[in-house]
Amino acid sequence: MIEVEAKAKINSFEEIIEELKKLNVEKNKTETQTDIYFNSPIVDFAKTDEALRIRKVNTDEKEELFITYKGPKIDKKSKTREEIEMKIEDENKCKKIFINLGFTNVRTVKKTRDYYDLNEYSISLDNVEGLEPYMEIETILEDGNDYKKAQENIFKIFEKLGIKKGFERTSYLELLENKDKNL
Ligand code: ATP
Ligand code: CA
Repeated sequence: MIEVEAKAKINSFEEIIEELKKLNVEKNKTETQTDIYFNSPIVDFAKTDEALRIRKVNTDEKEELFITYKGPKIDKKSKTREEIEMKIEDENKCKKIFINLGFTNVRTVKKTRDYYDLNEYSISLDNVEGLEPYMEIETILEDGNDYKKAQENIFKIFEKLGIKKGFERTSYLELLENKDKNL
């Protein structure tokens, strides 16, 4: 699958919620996402721009676990990249497999994410622990599809919501790492 996505730093969630209301877009769901990122014993994912993570998703009703691989970004403007994700049953067993194979635990990123759906585009308002408010707009395409049109639409939606700047291609993980290093 191809994840077509762009992210922007925003002034406040309230401002965006107001704009979404004007467009009659309603909140779909709220999730708490706990992401455990790993690094490879063979290559440095910070350099290859890949990612391996276990994601724990909590809602009021249930908890779900996923394993995700992300490939390097394929576009200079957005965060478009290959994404392979599937459900898993056991967080600790999965962690043990990775650790036994030499993968190391880099960092855990925790956030509360409010999802708003606009046709096939998913808008997330992300309250990441330790970071300012951010939002993302994403859509998932089948492999081999042209992502350019979807990317254009994503930036059009940002504009409709009053966002013309603040775009950010750095991951939450790296933003947190940079913050720790006072960069
Ligand atoms: P999603 O869009 O799947 O909900 P997200 O928005 O929470 O995820 P992203 O910022 O899109 O998070 O993805 C995680 C990022 O972390 C990836 O861009 C990846 O390149 C980066 N990353 C993963 N592992 C490492 C590592 N070991 N060192 C530095 N960066 C890493
Ligand atoms: Ca993302």
